[in-house]
Amino acid sequence: MKRAFLWFALLPALAGAHEAAPGDLLVVETTHLCTRPRLIAFGKAWPVRRMSRCRWQGLIGVDLAVGPGRYALIWKTEGKTRRESIHVVKRRFRISRIRVPQRLARFDKATLARIRREARMLRGCAQQMAQGWPAPLLQQPVQGVISTPFGARRIVNGEARSPHAGVDIAAPLGTPIRAPAAGTVVLVLHKGYLVGNAICLAHGGGMVSVFMHLAEVFVQQGAHVQAGDILGTVGATGRATGPHLHWGLFLRGARIDPLGALARRAWRTPAATTKMREPQAKEG
Ligand SMILES: [Zn+2]
Repeated sequence: MKRAFLWFALLPALAGAHEAAPGDLLVVETTHLCTRPRLIAFGKAWPVRRMSRCRWQGLIGVDLAVGPGRYALIWKTEGKTRRESIHVVKRRFRISRIRVPQRLARFDKATLARIRREARMLRGCAQQMAQGWPAPLLQQPVQGVISTPFGARRIVNGEARSPHAGVDIAAPLGTPIRAPAAGTVVLVLHKGYLVGNAICLAHGGGMVSVFMHLAEVFVQQGAHVQAGDILGTVGATGRATGPHLHWGLFLRGARIDPLGALARRAWRTPAATTKMREPQAKEG
């Protein structure tokens, strides 16, 4: 009975229309494909894992800048192509106005070149360790007040800037920052002009956390950490109006809402579905 109800509840998803908003981590499933499919949307391939013999789960990051509209989602195996769609709805983002010293809002040529170089390094993190399925996000890196939410349209000293690709969590100077999920430290940037001391932590599957404005950094590039391990402490280095942690989250380059991804449970459950008593999968 219970299962019949569950399938009924899943029918709209099976019909192949998924609704999402910019910044969402979309969890999708498909059945009756008995070889590993590729999942394609927004012009790229996304992580896929086997849930049982012919059932698969996929993860798609809807980038912050994706506009409203209908987008194709394709499951592809050698023999079959299954077409579905993602209906991206508009999301209202807060407008955040900040005032900072003029040297942190307007830049000379050399400073601008440095800022761009550092931004490129951080963007490069977003392409790291794309294989497999991401380690589950288990906790916020710090507890505190959300001072700037994900996606906020920022106005710095009266001028519009790029939207906020992360969440700012205000916490006292020196508060320990804990890894939200297991991962590998793929970059440590010291004294970045805008980002301050920053860390990139790759969780696998192309999911990468970026932490900015740290006071102290306790890990080195190449270190492997478990969820809950301390990475450094909260600071106000770079462009910051007070001590806070900026936590950005990428999935294969898409900028997604870290707190939204943390709240989604479906992608964090173990893949083994022992209840179904299906033959053991050879892969995945
Ligand atoms: Zn921020």
